[in-house]
Amino acid sequence: MRVYHRRFKQPRGVVMAKKWDLIVIGGGSGGLACAQRAAEHGAAVVVAEPGPLGGTCVNVGCVPKKIMFHAADVAHGIADAAGYGFDILRRGHDWPTLKARRDAYVLRLRGIYAQNLDKRGVTLLKETARFTGAGRVAIGASEYEAPHIVIATGGRPIRPPLPGAELGVSSDGFFGLERLPASVALIGSGYIAAELSGVFAALGADVTVLIRHDRMLRNFDEMLSLALMKAMRDDGIRIVEHATPAAVRAQAGACRVELADGRSEGPFETLIWAVGREACSDGLGLAAAGVAAGALGEVTTDLFQDTNVPGIHAIGDVTGRMALTPVAIAAGRRLADRLFGGMSDRHLDYRLVPTVIFSHPPIGTVGLSEQEARDQHGDAVEAFRSNFLPLYHGLTERRRRAEMKLVTVGAKRRIVGLHVIGMGADEMLQGFAVALRLGATKDDFDDTVAIHPTCAEEFVTMR
Ligand code: FAD
Ligand code: NDP
Repeated sequence: MRVYHRRFKQPRGVVMAKKWDLIVIGGGSGGLACAQRAAEHGAAVVVAEPGPLGGTCVNVGCVPKKIMFHAADVAHGIADAAGYGFDILRRGHDWPTLKARRDAYVLRLRGIYAQNLDKRGVTLLKETARFTGAGRVAIGASEYEAPHIVIATGGRPIRPPLPGAELGVSSDGFFGLERLPASVALIGSGYIAAELSGVFAALGADVTVLIRHDRMLRNFDEMLSLALMKAMRDDGIRIVEHATPAAVRAQAGACRVELADGRSEGPFETLIWAVGREACSDGLGLAAAGVAAGALGEVTTDLFQDTNVPGIHAIGDVTGRMALTPVAIAAGRRLADRLFGGMSDRHLDYRLVPTVIFSHPPIGTVGLSEQEARDQHGDAVEAFRSNFLPLYHGLTERRRRAEMKLVTVGAKRRIVGLHVIGMGADEMLQGFAVALRLGATKDDFDDTVAIHPTCAEEFVTMR
């Protein structure tokens, strides 16, 4: 492995004519992964990142969110402890302590990311970047050129253009909360509403989730949606269906949400918008470089993460394809392997990407929902289901059932979808995703000896 260590002083305002092989715009999950892999292949790499290293995932996404998920799990564990003979009194929860410890953990991670860049000789410029031409980028006050430029600028939360929308915060604002609100409304029905509502409820807030239709996670297998909604309601979360927000108004230090059909919900001490994210591509000067973008600003890419302009590539959330950290990382690493590692066909296959929703209980899902499979394969589809009470809940007062589904296609019953909601689903999914990628059939699952007693064994014992 060749690792180049190049350092240049950058006189401000001077057009740079150094020999860079790669400019990466954005130091989040995708950008860092791509930059480091390229450097490992011997490329001279510069990364532009004005914000904290690690981007969304490390700072206002996966990492601090997972810490909050664990905090909620601990709260559930305390509630369950009596069933196991413990005499525990939960006297309270100190949110500021949790936040301080979480923030410190994130800060440590940022330091590790900086060291990793340094070790590989990647130059980090703490500046915003903007295209000035097809192969040229202004980073801060200087201009850089390279044969390859990767756009990895991620996304940002959407706040709908409604009167009073500014009274709510986004998931970014969630991570800034200094204390647990007494009451909170989450607007949206996707990953973030599912995850954060569980955290708030477990830690003691009064939680309402406003959804536009009648299902959380409407794009996922229906079994998951219905089981999640039951679990949420059992945890005391109020889900208001057919609730389309029209306006938000302040009310005595709190806020109310006016719905399109005239209903009104609230007051809520805190309101969180969880209605999706949009690509962060405005201000990048895409037009100056001639790079094409879609209606929502997403940079259009092909199978190889190439844009319409030779030498300009894009990875991660900014491409509008599967906004998940491991997807951004995998796309970035494969791109670097192709550009600098001599692997001419290397690219990311976006099929069968597993994903977990860190709700309570968690959800794991990979492949097609039953409905998607039926739409694509008609009568060739079979679905196998299991619904059971995990052994752990045999002794607890809280009883959260687990549900699983295998979706198969054809006489050989190739598994095209695997879905699970229940304790351990988050850790269970990864290995099964490997099996699906390898083309596993129902017979392969049935031939695999179970691990007992676990929840995962249900997948290999389904009838
Ligand atoms: P980002 O990580 O967003 O990085 C983009 C970077 O580009 C940013 O640091 C930004 O400052 C920088 N940038 C923007 N414009 C410029 C510019 N002009 N010049 C220079 N730099 C610029 N995914 C999972 O897989 N698992 C999870 O559990 C999970 N949880 C999540 C929880 C939340 C609350 C959120 C919001 C997201 C979560 N995600 C999760 C999604 C995940 O965080 C993203 O998919 C991932 O961070 C995308 O990486 P990226 O590199 O494309 O973009
Ligand atoms: P999602 O795309 O998951 O869900 C948002 C949902 O909100 C939409 O599907 C829509 O559902 C509803 N919605 C959209 N617009 C409005 C509106 N104006 N008013 C009310 N409801 C609306 O977005 P999130 O913000 O939850 O998360 C963003 C992305 O971040 C996720 O898609 C995921 O890629 C990533 N993420 C990943 C996580 C993980 O891996 N565990 C965790 C968190 C985020 P409907 O049409 O049913 O109304």
